[in-house]
Amino acid sequence: MEGAYRAVVEAPGAARPKSIAAELEVSPRTVTSALNLLSDAGLVRWDRRGAVVIEQVDPATAAERARAAAEERERIEESRIEMMRGYAETSRCRRAFLLGYFGEETGERCGNCDTCESGHADAADAGSDASGAFLPNTPVSHEEFGAGTVMDVDGDRITVFFEHEGYKVLSREAVEERGLLEPR
Ligand SMILES: [Zn+2]
Repeated sequence: MEGAYRAVVEAPGAARPKSIAAELEVSPRTVTSALNLLSDAGLVRWDRRGAVVIEQVDPATAAERARAAAEERERIEESRIEMMRGYAETSRCRRAFLLGYFGEETGERCGNCDTCESGHADAADAGSDASGAFLPNTPVSHEEFGAGTVMDVDGDRITVFFEHEGYKVLSREAVEERGLLEPR
């Protein structure tokens, strides 16, 4: 990571993953994934010719920031999987659940999915619990999780997608009592 970053910094113009790989004696694939993380961390960017430095820091700091970017990516990915697990186990209308996942409001149950047809879909329609500051698509910020967007409100559960943390399901009661979410 540090070597790849140093190579980009030292390259005259854009650095090609192939030449960095040759220089460092690692595979081009390793270099490309290192550069992608450095790009996620906002330190380099890709242009047609290769990688270009956009922020110069010392290589150890670059590696640290790339690591943080990798961890963030992993957290977000895990939260997606967690949401999909919720989809598999939900007793709500599956269409309403999915629309909530994408931050869309829906007024009613679809009547066609398996939970609707088995009569297990919750009586409360998705979106009908949304009110005030917590409508889907409201930009919010959380003291610990930072900036996010309300995706869904269902009973006491508020689902928020946080830019750096991924999906979080918060208790509406806790959110309201402790003022955890501020509109942005
Ligand atoms: Zn349904």
